[in-house]
Amino acid sequence: MDEAQEVKETIRQNLARVQNRIANACQRVGRRPEEVTLVAVSKTMHAQRVTLACEAGVRDLGENRVQEAATKIPLVKADVTWHLIGHLQTNKAKQAVSLFDVIHSVDSVRIAEAIGSYAIALRKEMPILLEVNVSGEATKYGFDPVALPAAVETISQLRSVRLEGLMTVAPMVRNPEEARPFFVRLGELRDELRDRFPGAIGRHLSMGMTDDFEVAIEEGATMVRIGRAIFGERSVHFSPDSATIS
Ligand SMILES: *Cc1c(COP(=O)(O)O)cnc(C)c1O
Repeated sequence: MDEAQEVKETIRQNLARVQNRIANACQRVGRRPEEVTLVAVSKTMHAQRVTLACEAGVRDLGENRVQEAATKIPLVKADVTWHLIGHLQTNKAKQAVSLFDVIHSVDSVRIAEAIGSYAIALRKEMPILLEVNVSGEATKYGFDPVALPAAVETISQLRSVRLEGLMTVAPMVRNPEEARPFFVRLGELRDELRDRFPGAIGRHLSMGMTDDFEVAIEEGATMVRIGRAIFGERSVHFSPDSATIS
């Protein structure tokens, strides 16, 4: 096998293992695996590797930087859904709206308004999620939970954005069980918002990563964002311009 075939085979096996773990987590709580979208997080991975992942069966891809995605997305020759999962600055909103199919990381009313106005210009309806800083860590992006009702009220009035639900990044913990309360809380926040503003916000919960996705699924995740368990460890020496496969 040449190197590309080996990479593809490794990703295929990783994907099968992750899908199996998703199915088992669903089974534990009486959910169906079809309820959970697996977003393969391809940040720092080169376009060639990402294309191989698509050939291995990946259908949804997540990127956290608009700049990186702008060079990568045109090079990935596959019909996939692209998810923006990282903080978005206003000056990149236009590019983000044209590159991505879903934006998970809306963390202010201002950025939602910018997305909305570019979506109108591009005649697109943009599905978005609101990122919530459930743990209150100072280093994290996301809405303070107390600011959500006002945000939902304003954002749900915007034309050209469709508010699909909430997203969170749980704190880094040694035992994934310690992340559970944050996933539970995101589900409660979604339920409260849906009760208070009927029809304004969808039911999606984007939560769970390589180290904690099974717990997130047990607590209702409808989208999990998984990088390392599919692509392997990310290189600290990553340079978006290098031509190697890794
Ligand atoms: C990198 C990243 C992920 C994936 O992390 P892994 O630990 O590699 O699964 C998920 N969500 C966000 C927001 C990320 O930045």
